[in-house]
Amino acid sequence: MALNTSNISKLGFGCMRFEGRATDSIDVNRTAQLVDRYLEAGGNYFDTAWAYPGSEAVLGEALVSRYPRDSFYLATKCVAWTHCEGPDDLEKQLQESLAALQTDYIDVYLMHNLGGPRTAAFRAHGAWEFMKSAKERGLVRHIGFSAHCTPEELEEFLSEFPETEVVQLQINYIDWENPTFRERECVEVANRHGVPIIAMEPVKGGMLANPPKKAAEILDEVMLDYSYAASALRFTASVDGVFCTLSGMNTIEMVEENCNTFSDFKPLDERELEAIDRAQKAMRGSEIVACTACDYCAKVCPVGVGISGSINAFNHYINYGDPTQANEQLGFIVMFGAGKLPPVACIRCGACEEACPQNLEILKCFDRIIAEIMPHTPPPPDLMKM
Ligand code: SF4
Ligand code: SF4
Repeated sequence: MALNTSNISKLGFGCMRFEGRATDSIDVNRTAQLVDRYLEAGGNYFDTAWAYPGSEAVLGEALVSRYPRDSFYLATKCVAWTHCEGPDDLEKQLQESLAALQTDYIDVYLMHNLGGPRTAAFRAHGAWEFMKSAKERGLVRHIGFSAHCTPEELEEFLSEFPETEVVQLQINYIDWENPTFRERECVEVANRHGVPIIAMEPVKGGMLANPPKKAAEILDEVMLDYSYAASALRFTASVDGVFCTLSGMNTIEMVEENCNTFSDFKPLDERELEAIDRAQKAMRGSEIVACTACDYCAKVCPVGVGISGSINAFNHYINYGDPTQANEQLGFIVMFGAGKLPPVACIRCGACEEACPQNLEILKCFDRIIAEIMPHTPPPPDLMKM
């Protein structure tokens, strides 16, 4: 049976960024409260992945063990570009996902993060044949993939995997016309193939919830009734072909605000679209590094550099121009918060840039952190050894 997208809520619960994931300490009770509030407000779609640390097990406890299995949709993903040597590992991942989620079927099963150098691993390990077999065996109900890719690659994937029932794409206003991401064109490809879209990263890892001053001023002129995050969500959810927009929600306030935005959903009008367009131009002109904190880079870094945290500190520096404060952030987020190493520990192997779905120039950013931020109050030597 085809996926009936009209039964799925417009707001999806993204489960990649549960608080405590970096230290393996996601709180089940706290997550259960978020889940309860989201379900009460009419939400019913949860998106996790085998590769999100701790996420599936927490969802198993906080959601699946507490609610009737047919009262929500569960989506998870298998990965081939890391932790995978062949089809046996894909099967192992699926069995582990089912066990962690405490269920005997997955509603939507996706190949995780196709595009760029990562695609070859899915092909080499027969991932699509494996997906079809999982569906035939009744372990998953609908299959598709998530991707960070060019429109040309997406066209190729949809032709190569014609049984694709759903595709998960990054869609946010800052990258909509970005020549690297070409999100608008990707959406057009999916629509041409008639494949429904789940949108991810609508707030670009939180970046659009706190836009630089110039962009914020533009949004303030026109979108006074909405927070910056709500404006970003509304942009994405207004896109033709998108039936569900994922948001990673960590607090009750965030769940409530997002549920309110979607309870009386209003697509952007022309005036708002024009303001968003001006805001994105103002932001793209800044030096902000568009990291979504997905931490795919962390999975491949051989020395444990705190990459997303370092970029977060760099963006703080760009936004507020204070290197001392940015250096303090580096200490708190990277070293104390996540037990990771600062950019000076990088051996410049380049693995992170290959894994990065946003195609970020991580090493150039590190050069600037080392030259412009770290000379200001360097962290104590014992921290550098962590
Ligand atoms: S280039 Fe540096 S930060 Fe990137 S994966 Fe290699 S060691 Fe880690
Ligand atoms: S640098 Fe790239 S891979 Fe790493 S967290 Fe940011 S967006 Fe994700």
